[in-house]
Amino acid sequence: MMALPMKTSAQVKMNPAKIDALKTEMAKEIDSQQKFTQEMVDMVFSFGELGFQEVETSKYLTDILKKNGFTIEQGIAGIPTAWTAKWGSGKPLIAVGSDIDCIPKASQKPGVAYHDPIIEGAPGHGEGHNSGQPLNITAVLALKKVMEREKIPGTIMLWPGVAEEQLGTKAYYVRDGFFKGVDACIFTHVANNLSVSYGDGGNNGMVSVQFNFEGQASHAGAAPWRGKSALDAVELMNIGWNFHREHMEPTQRSHYVIKDGGDQPNVVPSKASVWYYFRERTYPKITQMFKDGIRIAEGAAQMTETKMAYEVLGSAWPGHFNQAIAETMYENIKRVGLPKWSEDDQILAKAAQKEMQNPEGGALETNGLATTLSQLSKPSATPNTGGGGSDDIADISWNLPTVVLRYPANIPGLPGHHWANAIAMATPIAHKGVTAGAKVEAMTLLDLLVKPEVLRYAWDYYNNVQTKDVKYKALISDTDKPAIHLNEKIMSEFRPEMKKYYYDPTKYATYLEQLGIKYPTVREAAGTGK
Ligand SMILES: [Zn+2]
Repeated sequence: MMALPMKTSAQVKMNPAKIDALKTEMAKEIDSQQKFTQEMVDMVFSFGELGFQEVETSKYLTDILKKNGFTIEQGIAGIPTAWTAKWGSGKPLIAVGSDIDCIPKASQKPGVAYHDPIIEGAPGHGEGHNSGQPLNITAVLALKKVMEREKIPGTIMLWPGVAEEQLGTKAYYVRDGFFKGVDACIFTHVANNLSVSYGDGGNNGMVSVQFNFEGQASHAGAAPWRGKSALDAVELMNIGWNFHREHMEPTQRSHYVIKDGGDQPNVVPSKASVWYYFRERTYPKITQMFKDGIRIAEGAAQMTETKMAYEVLGSAWPGHFNQAIAETMYENIKRVGLPKWSEDDQILAKAAQKEMQNPEGGALETNGLATTLSQLSKPSATPNTGGGGSDDIADISWNLPTVVLRYPANIPGLPGHHWANAIAMATPIAHKGVTAGAKVEAMTLLDLLVKPEVLRYAWDYYNNVQTKDVKYKALISDTDKPAIHLNEKIMSEFRPEMKKYYYDPTKYATYLEQLGIKYPTVREAAGTGK
């Protein structure tokens, strides 16, 4: 068990009745800021920017923070859309983060329970990353008022998960020192309940690698014998990898897309590229997969007499989260509880669930929005058997005590990374979920500032449990660079049209109103149209 907490002189220790009163005050303040919160959620939703291209989003959010007295550092770690925003003084230094990027081809009108894109083919918030920073800003501004008046020492640092969908930045933030001296990190992520977990949640870590092949062009009809096809190399690499798959452990996930398969059939492709995600449960297994990928790519290059080079585009460790902060946060989750959903919220949620019906789905996937609070999720008894997705917040979590607050801004049972996951994200469902999450976050931040034993337990867990046997070593090298060119082309294609749909809060109370959407819009009975 953990050591008893010791007195610390660095932090103020506040009496429980006072803490309780301040939490009640912050919750009231956050309720009174619902209009402000809704505007931020709707605004970021309307920007719909892909990873590394979050230009409008970052400008909008940092402008709000600047106006509220935060000191902004732009373009951190060589990433134009990344930043830190700091306020306060002295220790502890608490980092507060959330992702800001969206999903390709996920454009969707909010409040409409079937596929109806704002712009066909455009990116959209089909993951719900438009809601996390509005939550953080709402929480931190309520906390700031209390800190100023009560003269509570401490520094808050907001920061964005840029290009989370590419697992593209957090390892660089760590490598380049932006989390040095940070005492704890609270991260927020959209979900369909109010929850937190600790320990190893069973996710995979990963490395994202693009393999570029170079051959020789020739007339594919007149002189095919003079060509060396880079596309052949890509295809052979994929065949090699798919045969290799038979001999891999069930925890692996690997997938690829062909980024460049040549220009037209009558020109032997001189260039071709394939982009892989290699996911596994542990650092040694991930690096082994990466090596296997290189070996197979080299084989494909040999077979086709082409040249191969690869570039790392992103990485993430398997997650591990802090027990002390999670337990502290869960007390606040119980205190705040789930939002009160309206009948309209439930009608939209159930219609979206019906639309996206999962044949293997359980009650969670047909019952509308969550009405029972999640339990505090504890580490799995068999954490090494599952495998799954990845999140580069893990790179932060292996460097300092970190938790992820999940808040109920979306509908249960949807496929994820999909237009359907955007349906709720600029509606009262998201607005209420963000308000509830902001209360939990503000309360937990206060706990970290005025209960010295929480940080003491947190570091005890980090040092003596989490990192006792496993030590962090980045999956990126000292010379890898953030892949800031990603998504440039897609955004420059869609941005001019998307600009016409940016939310204008000076004219419209909500984004739903601006788009002329009746809330909720669901399919009529069968046979009567959409
Ligand atoms: Zn996400």
